[in-house]
Amino acid sequence: MIEMDSVTKAYRNGVVALRDVTLSIKAGEFVYLTGPSGAGKSTWLKLVYREERPTKGTIKVGGFDLTKLKARQVPELRRSVGVVFQDYRLIDRLTVAENIAFALEVLELPEREIRRRVAELLDLVGLEAHARRFPRELSGGEQQRVAIARALAPKPKLLIADEPTGNLDEETAASIVRLLMEINAFGTTVVMATHDRALIERFPRRTIRLEGGRVAYDRPARQVREAV
Ligand code: ADP
Ligand code: ADP
Repeated sequence: MIEMDSVTKAYRNGVVALRDVTLSIKAGEFVYLTGPSGAGKSTWLKLVYREERPTKGTIKVGGFDLTKLKARQVPELRRSVGVVFQDYRLIDRLTVAENIAFALEVLELPEREIRRRVAELLDLVGLEAHARRFPRELSGGEQQRVAIARALAPKPKLLIADEPTGNLDEETAASIVRLLMEINAFGTTVVMATHDRALIERFPRRTIRLEGGRVAYDRPARQVREAV
């Protein structure tokens, strides 16, 4: 699903955020990306959804070679990669249902199909009762569930989450990880950036740690407890 080969990312100000990173993530995996602040986690995720481009090296995501991607293929890549952020990024003036529907309207699906998919997604994230509320009327955990439903609306093969639990208390964070694991069990590949060691220990999965832009370690779930 993701193949990175010798990827280096230097920003224009000279900061080298990633150095010679080689990694492979298979379809169906659930992977944590961890490391201290400034380690390069967000940069790594941005390269995968092509918010940023590598200075050196190659990146393949799904069927796409990002280093050769044509401008007209970018929308197709964006549909196959769902993205969730720490600060939810919902549209304040739209209801929960409208926020999710918005992601489907740009795909020009028929109205009936959109309504059906929104209902399905609300059910998946457990927010059927909140369809007509506005984001500000929801708790942080509920807003993150809406953001996850929206990211899943175009049925992406890959879901990327950048510190999705960073603003949540411990139990709400755990419920979000359980939801991401459920989504993963349905077949979506999930990569979650987090620096929450307790969360990783509680729900062990393959963990890739970045430090100073390099891969410090890449450990399977069964070695996570000794690793973190
Ligand atoms: P993390 O997500 O692990 O905190 P980031 O990928 O955000 O790490 O940052 C890695 C390094 O790149 C940091 O030194 C950060 O200051 C720098 N950086 C991130 N984004 C930019 C940018 N747009 N321009 C310049 N430097 C950046
Ligand atoms: P948390 O404990 O996660 O901070 P809140 O206290 O913000 O949660 O919210 C608890 C419940 O109250 C949630 O189900 C939320 O949807 C509901 N709620 C919070 N604020 C409002 C509001 N302004 N209008 C309607 N419902 C609200």
